[in-house]
Amino acid sequence: MVEVNKTRIPLTKPKVGIYGFTGCAGDQLLLIHTEDEIINLYNSVDLRSFVMASSNPIEEELDIAFIEGSISTEEERDRILKIRKRAKILVAIGNCAVNGGPQSMCVGDGRFEMRLKKIYGDTTFLTDPIESQPVDAIVNVDFYLPGCPIGAPQAFALISRLIHGVIPEPYPHPVCHECKLNENRCLLLDKICCFGPLTSGGCGSACPNHGLPCVGCWGANEDGNFDYHIEFLESFGKTKEEILRLIRGYGGHKILKFIEKRGK
Ligand code: SF4
Ligand code: SF4
Repeated sequence: MVEVNKTRIPLTKPKVGIYGFTGCAGDQLLLIHTEDEIINLYNSVDLRSFVMASSNPIEEELDIAFIEGSISTEEERDRILKIRKRAKILVAIGNCAVNGGPQSMCVGDGRFEMRLKKIYGDTTFLTDPIESQPVDAIVNVDFYLPGCPIGAPQAFALISRLIHGVIPEPYPHPVCHECKLNENRCLLLDKICCFGPLTSGGCGSACPNHGLPCVGCWGANEDGNFDYHIEFLESFGKTKEEILRLIRGYGGHKILKFIEKRGK
């Protein structure tokens, strides 16, 4: 579970850095696209580093560092270690930072070198690639904001809480809870493979609201009955391997470890 950093941020403008690692940069883009809110953010914090918005970063001690993307190279590993040392609070934002993202779905299977060679051949890299992993595989993470991408209401609620010294709490229910509140017809009734029961809520059941199944981008709901739901989805004609592969797509390898741990 999340190890909570009890640091209280003073109401005077906290120093903030927003950093991108391996990912599509969609979370940073979402923050910029919020327009009205981003102006409030600029007024509420002392934004020292946000390369997507300003090419003049100031790298020094930070109250809060927001990290997007997984850690996929030696250079990124060094960089996240340095940011962690400078930041009182570190928040992982987006599926890649929280769970490793699709790029970490096979991590730990012992075939990384083979895959690298198959895709890149004898390419010389500027920095050595490593198996892509979530941020907390390398450094301690204080808070998590999942999603692919993150949602603006949840992002600004979390930022606002941190600014005011209130500990952000993870949403305790699965996506299904929000889906029911939104009065959606359950996709499982139509034999559509939805991971809502296994996924942490907080997104407002964004996908089922539009008739699309949840693919698990908010990460594992720790109370989810994984064994039963996987067995149930098998009754739709999918093999267990196919289902686990789908789960890994956004749950990364982390979710398999979680399933293994629960099986013991
Ligand atoms: S559609 Fe998906 S998220 Fe909604 S209730 Fe059914 S299983 Fe849960
Ligand atoms: S419904 Fe599932 S896949 Fe869609 S945003 Fe929510 S957690 Fe992510």
